[in-house]
Amino acid sequence: MNRHNSRPIVLCLSGHDPIGGAGLQADIEAIAAQQCHAAPAVTALTIQDTANVSDFRVLDHDWIIAQARAILNDVPVAAIKLGMLGSGSMVRTACEVIHMASSAPVVCDPVLRAEGGGALGEDDVGYILREELLPLAFIATPNLPEARIMAELPDGTADQCAAVLLKYCKNLLITGGHGPESQLHNRLYMQDGSFHDIVQQRLPGKYHGSGCTLASALAGRLALGEALPGAVQSALDYTWRTLRDAEAPGKGQYIPRRFPIA
Ligand code: PLP
Repeated sequence: MNRHNSRPIVLCLSGHDPIGGAGLQADIEAIAAQQCHAAPAVTALTIQDTANVSDFRVLDHDWIIAQARAILNDVPVAAIKLGMLGSGSMVRTACEVIHMASSAPVVCDPVLRAEGGGALGEDDVGYILREELLPLAFIATPNLPEARIMAELPDGTADQCAAVLLKYCKNLLITGGHGPESQLHNRLYMQDGSFHDIVQQRLPGKYHGSGCTLASALAGRLALGEALPGAVQSALDYTWRTLRDAEAPGKGQYIPRRFPIA
């Protein structure tokens, strides 16, 4: 056993999806696939299948802080990935954890709804995320519907939403694919005012856990020391491959295959 050859560690605060497509399982797999180690702290439990979510329960503040303390007192955390938080009070708990972890870069995936449309958070989560958590994040990775909710622009374009959200967060990746377009238009907005477009071929079908996969892969890339925008490009390329190779185990959406087919 050699402590010195340990992989970089990514602390995850996310919900649990019992079907294993999204949430912490997605985080663990995507982070492991970047050759990093995930330290998964559970924020919420959900009841769902590959089609939709029927219920969720957010855990207590003290349980999250105790999980984070156990991780942070034991291992060096190289990046933090935030997924489903579920309530305004859990957003504030995540802010506490970020302060406990000092300087690790934070990737915030603003999870508000499942692909099937079911809610994965109370109504005030988007607003509290924007006001209190985005200022602590290194990068947020909303898709366009999530960016519109946080920016309070129901019909806004990615650029219009970014103009609002960049007042709160340093870097922003707005992902495409939620409209009818034949290509995925992803745009990375950087804190120096520049932006980078990453266009990908659209794949047929709907996927359960694609946003979790992307944000976790990105957190892993940052934990390895990669700089933006290279880390974003690698994470998007990786995510696209997991969707290309996705499985259809149930009656609903496909599940990304996060480890290559042997
Ligand atoms: N986190 C949890 C616990 C979930 O159950 C889901 C979706 O069902 C998500 C996050 C978001 O999934 P996606 O990556 O498809 O946006």
